Amino acid sequence: MSDSRAIPGKALAAALQRWGLPLYRDVPLARFTTSRIGGPAEALVMVEDVQALADVVQGAWADGIPVTLLGGGSNVLIADRGVRGLVVLNRARALRFEADGRVWAASGVLLPTLARLCAERGWSGLEWAIGVPGTVGGAVVGNAGAHGGDIASCLESVELLVPEEGIVIWGVGQLALGYRTSRLKTWPAAPRPVVLAARFLLRPEDPEAILERMAAFNAYRRRTQPGGASIGSMFRNPPGDYAGRLIEAAGLKGARRGGIVISTLHANFFINEGNGTAADVRALMMEVQRCVQERFGVLLEPEIEFVGEWEDEAADSGGCAVRGEIRGA
Ligand SMILES: Cc1cc2nc3c(=O)[nH]c(=O)nc-3n(C[C@H](O)[C@H](O)[C@H](O)COP(=O)(O)OP(=O)(O)OC[C@H]3O[C@@H](n4cnc5c(N)ncnc54)[C@H](O)[C@@H]3O)c2cc1C
Repeated sequence: MSDSRAIPGKALAAALQRWGLPLYRDVPLARFTTSRIGGPAEALVMVEDVQALADVVQGAWADGIPVTLLGGGSNVLIADRGVRGLVVLNRARALRFEADGRVWAASGVLLPTLARLCAERGWSGLEWAIGVPGTVGGAVVGNAGAHGGDIASCLESVELLVPEEGIVIWGVGQLALGYRTSRLKTWPAAPRPVVLAARFLLRPEDPEAILERMAAFNAYRRRTQPGGASIGSMFRNPPGDYAGRLIEAAGLKGARRGGIVISTLHANFFINEGNGTAADVRALMMEVQRCVQERFGVLLEPEIEFVGEWEDEAADSGGCAVRGEIRGA
């Protein structure tokens, strides 16, 4: 894989040197995604600090290098051809409990870890997040939610790195959080802002009561969702209905393409049995869209994001792309 821009350029090289960060090349990304799927990153850096995250991304932007942020890799399908430019693996995991129910979390903090630590402290508001994989940054971008709660209901503000602006603080209202979306997710042009950190506002409650609710959420998830390698829900729920119900009603539970099978427990989950590829997932998604539309007249919209180099694969499948955002590097 090659890119017209040298990686690193001058600004990125300086940032890497300041933070003593190695740059890795041609790194298979499958090990960094919950689906265990993903071709190679042209270049990859792992950051463990919010300042380093800002510095590295700013350096890459200054050099004109495309940047892809990767948190837990639990809501992305990375193309088999991989990702051009720089992939930044976010492992910035600092956490600060402040006064009055406020908690500041670096964007690489794992959401279930944050939920558990807050519950143990007797701070309520994040218990819905106990079974939602991934990082604070990814959760803010997609307004993650479950069990009637979501990021919008407990977030106070975020620290962002915005192209042309630098580091800014936005109140939750500025993010335009909606059902699995935000102003960051629908940002009109690359590069997209980077979430550096988030501040949550929680309420005091008896820790035992919070932990009990979380245990019930965990038990529900274990009953209703499959284990194994997946990206969670593949399609958004259409208004007034459930994508899983429609896929099941179309008779598609257990359908497979290559190493990918539609879960027999929850039809909106696709499981990678070990040798599945991104092309398999995408082909199965198109099949599901076609069947559900034919049977019920509903076009299911992908909930996951497509990342990386997809163009040729779309052409291979007759030029028929899954409808939904495809983000090239
Ligand atoms: C088994 C399973 C169950 C799930 N259940 C739920 C559920 O109940 N509710 C729910 O909402 N979701 C669920 N998901 C989806 C997923 O957990 C969420 O979407 C999660 O918030 C994604 O976070 P992440 O860090 O993994 O993001 P990634 O997949 O790494 O990234 C997602 C997007 O956010 C961008 N991004 C990541 N970090 C940053 C950052 N710091 N700044 C800017 N952009 C960034 C990425 O570039 C990408 O575009 C589930 C997934 C799985 C695998």
